[in-house]
Amino acid sequence: MTMENGEDCCVKVAVHIRPLIGDERLQGCKDCVTVVPRKPQVQIGTHSFTFDHVYGSTASPSSLMFDECVAPLVDGLFQGYNATVLAYGQTGSGKTYTMGTGCKDDSQTGLIPQVMKALFSKIETLRNQAEFQLHVSFIEILKEEVRDLLDSSSVSKLDVVSGQVGKMTVPGKPPVQIREASNGVITLAGSTEVSVSTQKEMAACLEQGSLNRATGSTNMNNQSSRSHAIFTIMLEQMRKLGPIVGTEGVQIEDVNEDYLCAKFHLVDLAGSERAKRTGSDGLRFKEGVHINKGLLALGNVISALGDEKKRKEGAHVPYRDSKLTRLLQDSLGGNSRTVMIACISPADINAEETLNTLKYANRAR
Ligand code: ADP
Ligand code: MG
Repeated sequence: MTMENGEDCCVKVAVHIRPLIGDERLQGCKDCVTVVPRKPQVQIGTHSFTFDHVYGSTASPSSLMFDECVAPLVDGLFQGYNATVLAYGQTGSGKTYTMGTGCKDDSQTGLIPQVMKALFSKIETLRNQAEFQLHVSFIEILKEEVRDLLDSSSVSKLDVVSGQVGKMTVPGKPPVQIREASNGVITLAGSTEVSVSTQKEMAACLEQGSLNRATGSTNMNNQSSRSHAIFTIMLEQMRKLGPIVGTEGVQIEDVNEDYLCAKFHLVDLAGSERAKRTGSDGLRFKEGVHINKGLLALGNVISALGDEKKRKEGAHVPYRDSKLTRLLQDSLGGNSRTVMIACISPADINAEETLNTLKYANRAR
């Protein structure tokens, strides 16, 4: 498949500013982030950044954000393009809310539920032209280990008597491994791939995995802020191109079929609060104590992809530096489409982390 003018190959970056939340209001926080009217530009202190899109907290952003940033990626799946949407930002900045990977009702308007809706309505309109198969997986990367969030042998069960969520884990299941086939396709060996045929079934997988993620540790806030959650939709289609008809109107071949497959990774990244930029060149993230390996590697991969000059010279893209970038390797760069959504809090107490997030996102362009 050829690249379209090279225009679609880069990473698009959007900023999502959530409103001040109750806690911040109680503390008397002030809004310290300004959106330049009619421009995708944000200002904080003396700093100003321009992105592909900026969604402020005053508008109702989520369906606009979906239409502008994510819907084109859903369409691309049907042409065989892989896609990745990443939510980046400090803990509490709205990543889970934006993606819809939370367990609460407020995540209904998140991007993943909207992807599902768009996907199934598109499939419905194409039903006569193609046959579709959908699979989903949902995993979490914590401390460079891959955990299967849809593994039925470690499902979270609500104890009816105590009302507590408990875990049943069958020991001895081999860990999930990231494998690369000779054609560059990345697979997750040992992870559950659930076949789904309705939007409802797909939503149930999202819910089940989100519940598993939240209850995977006794210290749940800590865990979900340190792990990357990756919900993956795999779309296979067998297009019926119609019978091939010869010159005399004689049917030569029964049905000419065309197989396409593509996957869509929707990623709720670990909290960025420990990933500080260091070094005088400002180009590389250095690893320090407890710094998330995946976020460091992701920053370096995306920066390498965005640097057109380097890319043309065939520069090394350091996918192998973390599990996260390894897993996303065939869906970042090349013919795939990537959107990073930098989530920020407008509160002045978070100004330093917000600035870090904007710098990280700025480097991705
Ligand atoms: P993160 O996943 O980055 O740690 P969350 O998505 O959990 O952050 O959001 C933190 C809090 O802010 C939650 O209580 C969430 O409901 C709220 N919140 C996040 N984004 C928005 C938004 N756009 N509008 C209203 N509330 C939001
Ligand atoms: Mg979260």
